[in-house]
Amino acid sequence: MTENYDVIIIGSGAGGGTLAHALADSGKRILLLERGDYLPREMDNWSPKPVFVDGKYISKDTWFDRDGKAFQPQVHYFVGGATKLYGAALYRLRPQDFGEVKHVDGISPAWPLSYDDFEPWYSQAERLYQVHGNGGEDPTEGHRSEPYPWPAVSHEPRLQQISDDLAKGGYHPFHAPCGIMLNEARRPESTCIRCAWCDGYPCLVHAKADAEVIAVRPLLDRPNVTLLTGAEVTRLETDDSGRTVTGVVVSRDGNREVYRGDIVAVSAGAANSAKLLLNSASDAHPHGLANGSDQVGRNYMFHNCRAIAALSKEENDTVYQKTLGINDFYFATKDYQYPAGNIQMVGKSNAEAMRGEQPEKTMFAPEWSLTDVARHSVDFWLTTEDLPVPENRVTTDKDGNVHLTYSPTNAEEEDRLYAELKKILNHTGMAAHHVFRKNFYMDMDIPLAGCAHQAGTCRFGTDPATSVLDVNCKAHEVDNLYVVDTSFFPSIGAVNPALTAIANALRVGDHILSRTT
Ligand SMILES: Cc1cc2nc3c(=O)[nH]c(=O)nc-3n(C[C@H](O)[C@H](O)[C@H](O)COP(=O)(O)OP(=O)(O)OC[C@H]3O[C@@H](n4cnc5c(N)ncnc54)[C@H](O)[C@@H]3O)c2cc1C
Ligand code: SF4
Repeated sequence: MTENYDVIIIGSGAGGGTLAHALADSGKRILLLERGDYLPREMDNWSPKPVFVDGKYISKDTWFDRDGKAFQPQVHYFVGGATKLYGAALYRLRPQDFGEVKHVDGISPAWPLSYDDFEPWYSQAERLYQVHGNGGEDPTEGHRSEPYPWPAVSHEPRLQQISDDLAKGGYHPFHAPCGIMLNEARRPESTCIRCAWCDGYPCLVHAKADAEVIAVRPLLDRPNVTLLTGAEVTRLETDDSGRTVTGVVVSRDGNREVYRGDIVAVSAGAANSAKLLLNSASDAHPHGLANGSDQVGRNYMFHNCRAIAALSKEENDTVYQKTLGINDFYFATKDYQYPAGNIQMVGKSNAEAMRGEQPEKTMFAPEWSLTDVARHSVDFWLTTEDLPVPENRVTTDKDGNVHLTYSPTNAEEEDRLYAELKKILNHTGMAAHHVFRKNFYMDMDIPLAGCAHQAGTCRFGTDPATSVLDVNCKAHEVDNLYVVDTSFFPSIGAVNPALTAIANALRVGDHILSRTT
C-alpha cells in the first residue's frame, strides 16, 4: 500500500482510541490499526460463567514467565482494548504521586511533569469520559479546575450505611469516580441501567464510558479516519539513519501489508508496545527500536491488587457496588510510615462466578451455601503501589513472544492495607474473621497473568539515558515515533491507571497537532 497517512495509531484502547479522538477534528488523515475486532454484543456479555469462568473475552495469547513457563495473560484485544472490560473507576493520580514517594521497598520516582501540568488534561478527560464524582470529599485528591461533569453515582442503601459507619469511625469515605453513562436525575433517559455487570464485564447496552464507545465509534463516519480491525502490527521499519519510522508492517487476514505515516503512535498496551519496539530491531537500532538506553520493556508495573469479600450477617442487596472509595491509607499515617494504598469496591460477588472460583469461604461460614455467601458479601478491591524495578521487564524471544519477568515489591504495604481493611470492617458490622481473599480472575495464574493495570515499559523523562520517551511521549531516538498508552508511566501510584492514560493521550494529541500545523 502506498497511501501516506498523517498519523498512524497502533491500538484503539484508552491511549490509542483517545488519541485518535483528540486528532480527528483537525482533518488529519488518521489510520487506526487494531489487532482485535469489535467485541460482540451478546447475552454472554453479562453472564459470569462465560466472562469470569471461561474467560471468553480474554485473548488466546501465550506469554512466558521468567522460567519459560507458558501462561495466558489477561489481555483483551478488541476495539477499545482493555477498557471494554474495565471497571471504569476513573481516578486521577494524587499530586504527590507525581513527586518522589518513599516506600518500604524503595523510592517511587518523580515524574518529569507535575500534577498541575496534568490537571487541565484530567479535566478534559473527565468531560470526555463522562466521569461521575463529587470533588472535595476525598482529602487526598488534588485541586480541580472544574467540577466533575456529572454528580457522583449514589450509594445504594447498604453502601450508604457502610459509608456512614466509616465516617462515624473517623474515616473519610468518598464517592468513587465512575465512568458510566448513568443519569440518575432522569432515569428513563439514562443509557446506563445501573446493573451488576460492570466491573470486568463488557457493557451490553454500550453505557460504559469505554474507548470504543466514547472515543472510536464517534469517528467512524469521518472521511479522514480509517479504522482497520484484525490488523496486528508486527514491526516498525525505519530509514537508514534510524531517525524516522518509514513503514508500519501489519499482518491482516494472513497477508503482510505495509502502511506509511508521517507520525506513528504506538498504543498497544504496556507489554505489547514494548514487544513491538523490541521486535523492530534493525542495524540502526540493534537492541530494539528506540532502545539505545536499554530501557524498553523495563520497569513493568501492574499494582499489588487484592479482591476481598467480607461477610456480614445482614444481606447486601447492592446491585452497582463500585460507588465507594477510601484513601485514608493512601499516604503514610501516624501509625505507619509508608503509603499502603487505595481501597475501593469491586463488582458484586455472585454465586456463579464464585463457583468457578472455589473460594476459601467454607472455612469462614460453613453453614452457608455459595448463594448465601454471595448474598451477604461486601466486596472490596485493594490496590498498593508497586515500584518500577529495572529487572521487572518484558523481553521477547527469537520468535517474538513476550517473556515477563516480575518480582513483587511493597508486599508489606499490601499486607498493611489488608490489615487496615479488617480493622475498619469492625466499624461496619463485618467482623475481621469473616473476610476472605477472592481469586478474582479465575483460572488465571495470579499474579503474573492478571496484568489489567500493566504500565511502565517505555517511561518518559528528560534524560535519554534513563528513559525511552521525552516529556511529549516522543521517542528520544526517533523523530516521528510516539508511545501513547500506559507504557509512559515512570511510577504507577495506587489508583487505577486509565484516566491518566486518557488524559495523557489528550495532552500528546495537542502536542502532535501543534507540531504538525
Ligand atoms: C478487567 C479489567 C478491569 C479494569 N478496571 C479498571 C478500572 O476500573 N479503572 C481503570 O482506570 N483501569 C482499569 N483497568 C485498566 C485499564 O483498562 C487499562 O489501564 C487501560 O485500558 C490501558 O490503556 P492502554 O491504551 O495502555 O491499553 P489498552 O486499552 O489495552 O489498548 C491496547 C490496544 O492495542 C491493541 N493491540 C495490542 N497489540 C497490537 C498490535 N500489535 N497491533 C495492533 N493493535 C494491537 C489491543 O488489542 C488493544 O485494543 C482494567 C482492566 C481490566 C482488564
Ligand atoms: S452499570 Fe451501566 S455501564 Fe455498567 S454494565 Fe451496567 S448498564 Fe453498562
